[in-house]
Amino acid sequence: MKYFFLSLLSILVVSCNSAQTASSKKKTRVDYANSITSEELKTMLYTFASDEMQGRMTGEKGQKLAAEYLRNFYQDHGIASPIEKNNYYQNIPAEYFSRMKEPKSSENVVAFIEGSEKPDEIIVLSAHYDHLGMREDGTIYNGADDDGSGTMAMLEIAEAFQQAVKDGNGPKRSILFLHVTAEEIGLYGSRYYTENPIFPLENTVANLNTDMIGRIDPDKKDNPNYIYLIGSDKLSQELHNVSEEVNEKYTNLELDYTYNDENDPNRFYYRSDHYNFAKNNIPIIFYFNGTHEDYHKPTDTPDKIEYELMTKRTRLIFQTAWEVANREGRITADKLESGN
Ligand SMILES: [Zn+2]
Repeated sequence: MKYFFLSLLSILVVSCNSAQTASSKKKTRVDYANSITSEELKTMLYTFASDEMQGRMTGEKGQKLAAEYLRNFYQDHGIASPIEKNNYYQNIPAEYFSRMKEPKSSENVVAFIEGSEKPDEIIVLSAHYDHLGMREDGTIYNGADDDGSGTMAMLEIAEAFQQAVKDGNGPKRSILFLHVTAEEIGLYGSRYYTENPIFPLENTVANLNTDMIGRIDPDKKDNPNYIYLIGSDKLSQELHNVSEEVNEKYTNLELDYTYNDENDPNRFYYRSDHYNFAKNNIPIIFYFNGTHEDYHKPTDTPDKIEYELMTKRTRLIFQTAWEVANREGRITADKLESGN
């Protein structure tokens, strides 16, 4: 009998110990990156790029529905607005779109995770959520890749950071999730933000902009484990180096700089929302899969997205944001300061 009691006791001790070990194991940035999954990206994108969203044309019903979708996501995940409680919209008046035939007001959607140590230093993650709308015959431009992919990536990244906050591992610097409107009609939403910033631009450390990360450029079909990076070394060698190091350590994608060439005729550096930050001397990285046969066509649909690859690319952006937000020193526009 005595022997029996002892062994029962030892079983209890052993099981208590192992339970304690499991719960106190500190989660790492890799665990948070792994919370970004292809299943979640796929489920969300099938809704966000569905016909119900009517192509998300700036100022139209579809864009408003898309804005509500984003707002609901942040509310449901307990991620705050930087404007005021439960107001996630940075409203842009119709007059701002004076170049449109019938100007209508629109809104950027914003959410915010406050840094634990350097809350005044802001990393801006951006993606445009508008697209080309519908034709008169009712044909819908779903914009699954452009830029449903970047928009869903931001939501998953926000969720991963919010989980880190809950675990007491939140970022040292603050992160602004900026879903800009009116990109397709001329980068209006990001321009409006940089002219009316919620946080001072001089405190804005970097902008990581994601526009199309769910497809494979036909030129890359034999080697699809890639992402084009544009602008990473234009203002900050430090940001470029961080980006390279993070990729080598955590994601191992081929970082392709083809379109970073000053002489590239596509001039993609000037063609998405990061440019409005870059022209204010804020270091940027633009993440892009290149164009493809469905670019700006009604056939840019969610069934054509490469979800595993998109997940990997999203994790790269998350890891880069994590590094920029948590490293000791603030990223600087070192190329600007040295006059290069
Ligand atoms: Zn786009």
